[in-house]
Amino acid sequence: MKKNHIDTIAITSTVLHENNGSVTPPIYLSTTFERNADGTIPENGYLYNRHDNPNRRVLEQSLAILERGSDAFAFASGMAAINAVFQTLRAGDHVILPDDAYYSIFLLTEDFFSQFGVTFSRVDQSNLEQIRAEVQPNTRLIWIETPSNPMLKLADIAGITKIAHDNNALCAVDNTWATPVLQNPLVLGADISMHSTTKYFGGHSDVLGGALIINDNPKLAERLRKIQKIGGAVPSPFDCWLVARGIRTLPLRVKTQTKSAQKLADYLSKHKKIESVSYPGLKTHPQYAIAQKQMSLPGAMLSIQVIGGRNEAMQLTQRLKLFIHATSLGGVESLIEHRKSVEGDASVTPENLLRISVGIEHYADLIADFKQALG
Ligand code: PLP
Repeated sequence: MKKNHIDTIAITSTVLHENNGSVTPPIYLSTTFERNADGTIPENGYLYNRHDNPNRRVLEQSLAILERGSDAFAFASGMAAINAVFQTLRAGDHVILPDDAYYSIFLLTEDFFSQFGVTFSRVDQSNLEQIRAEVQPNTRLIWIETPSNPMLKLADIAGITKIAHDNNALCAVDNTWATPVLQNPLVLGADISMHSTTKYFGGHSDVLGGALIINDNPKLAERLRKIQKIGGAVPSPFDCWLVARGIRTLPLRVKTQTKSAQKLADYLSKHKKIESVSYPGLKTHPQYAIAQKQMSLPGAMLSIQVIGGRNEAMQLTQRLKLFIHATSLGGVESLIEHRKSVEGDASVTPENLLRISVGIEHYADLIADFKQALG
């Protein structure tokens, strides 16, 4: 039978088939589950909420189907999911990181994991030669974020995965900004697809979550399951329920948001008060060819640099009426954020940069809002 479209899978994969016919799944709050008479764990495998529960299981099954993987692991936040990947490493291992990525990954790796003997290099991942040159005999992981936060740089997932595999290393991709609606890292050969489900999966800025999805790697699956169960950075049943509910409209939202982002990027790229627009759907984007190769659409995130500096950028956030000046992304409401002030002094993000997460408001209203705010 022909495989269903992602819009259909988003609906069918989030149903719990054990609930008296209720069309939407119930929330199982029980922290513990009854044992068999002989003390063994029942066939359904449920023992204790930190290990597994019906809401987490249906969410993980859905995540695995959407990302075309074999196993998925849900976490309490995107950072908890990233932390789990780095917990699979050992003292003496080396990791290649991007030079532009969600800034907390640098805090996590360089502040914490370096204490345990793991070393890191930061590389411009739009350049395969630079990555190849940075590989060391002890490199065990190449971490990719594409599109990257906040500069929207793209990395060639298939090309980098080949370098990783040629050198006995794994390749993990932060796929938060693209979502499986637009990009499937596992299909391109990567070993791990990671998500902050706080963003597009949840979709309504009301739940924190994270996920890892892998394909046919029983050893890695066993290790990650252990880290999830024993480490305990797990999402609550209600959090799982909210993310699963978000999944039902994920394709619909992401496609609408992307359409509006493209129109907004086209408009802003021609505006005389905007110095530059970073968006993979613009032909001027330095990695436009990579976007065409590995993404079905360019996504709903963009960054702009305002002519002037920090003050002009800040003033723009205050003049906009529909875009809320707030951190995070991927929700139904449009957000704009001055990244440098949240990333701190060590950040190399330009002072005049604003990151935009396009929501599901009508694109004409969003463009009109920028028109009035830019004057
Ligand atoms: N990865 C990316 C690309 C992000 O943008 C974020 C958060 O903004 C994270 C990871 C971290 O996710 P969380 O805030 O759910 O821990």
